[in-house]
Amino acid sequence: MYRSCLYCDRALTGSGDAASLRPGVRLAFDPDRARVWTVCDRCHGWNLWWPDERVDALYELERLARDRARVLFETDHIALLEVDGRQLVRVGPAPRREEAWWRYGRRLRRRRRLFHSPLTRVGVATYSAVSSVGASMGLSSVTGNFSGSDDRQTEVLRWRRFGRTAWSGRATCPNCSSVLIRLFFLKSPDLILMPTDAGVASIGLPCIRCDSWSGDQTHRFDASAAEPVLRRVLAWYNIEGATTTDLDRAVRLIEEAGSAESFIGGLAAERRPLHSLERPRTVALEIAVNERAERARLAHAAAELDAGWQRAEELAAIIDDELEPPSLGPEAGGRPPERRRPPAKRDRGGLF
Ligand SMILES: [Zn+2]
Ligand SMILES: [Zn+2]
Repeated sequence: MYRSCLYCDRALTGSGDAASLRPGVRLAFDPDRARVWTVCDRCHGWNLWWPDERVDALYELERLARDRARVLFETDHIALLEVDGRQLVRVGPAPRREEAWWRYGRRLRRRRRLFHSPLTRVGVATYSAVSSVGASMGLSSVTGNFSGSDDRQTEVLRWRRFGRTAWSGRATCPNCSSVLIRLFFLKSPDLILMPTDAGVASIGLPCIRCDSWSGDQTHRFDASAAEPVLRRVLAWYNIEGATTTDLDRAVRLIEEAGSAESFIGGLAAERRPLHSLERPRTVALEIAVNERAERARLAHAAAELDAGWQRAEELAAIIDDELEPPSLGPEAGGRPPERRRPPAKRDRGGLF
């Protein structure tokens, strides 16, 4: 394989083998046509491996794809896979069914482990002491004040990670025209998920002046603000993460709805405030909202890779045909192509 990109000269690996690929650089392979590429993370150029280097790599890549990879996204031509945090591109259909919801579920489990770790407890105790000093000096707006807190661990971690403002901007109440310019996290459990005319979910905060809980008289967030605010608020809300039981129930709720979209749409139709949702539903909502955002990002990346593969495949067909010419001897009026082969190391210790 190539140590640096043929198109932009960016270093692709640290020491020349696949195990030392730089973060963001992907390996791509086509098991049917026996092709392997290294895809540059800067110029997105597909660097075709030399034929004699491909055989062992193809075997290993296909084994990884079949046994250990998770399917992130599929297009008509390629499957974007992940193995141990690295992405692989397999030309052709995905070797296994996409495992929905695992991405964010894993993050919620990790968040729970961190929340309950001894190191976190020590950090919370230390910060509590600092904040008491700050509060006694009148600096509680900077350090927070947790002296009367029932759940100091949760409140300190929320403060440290998110501060107190979930959003700032302008959200108008259609009934009284008052304008909300800041949403504090402490008010965010009152947020209502609601449907819009465009068929997507939005959020609103009941207007204090109108004192309405109907979901009609609320400060409405526009569609572009709603999703990031909801993701941020749910991460604050579920800062403790989720147990395996919580996750199983949450995943079942999404699966019963049919998709992340349908689950969000179903909740929006109920127009209930966040604080009234049972825990599995808030976990499911965080998973669904993030899954939807993640899929949009992956769809974009996969579409770019699909287009890149189509160009790379045309070139690879020409190169492979040239590398194995049927007859190019002097008697045939041609001469063998002169190729300078770059130094290459074959990976002996596994691709990842
Ligand atoms: Zn490049
Ligand atoms: Zn109002």
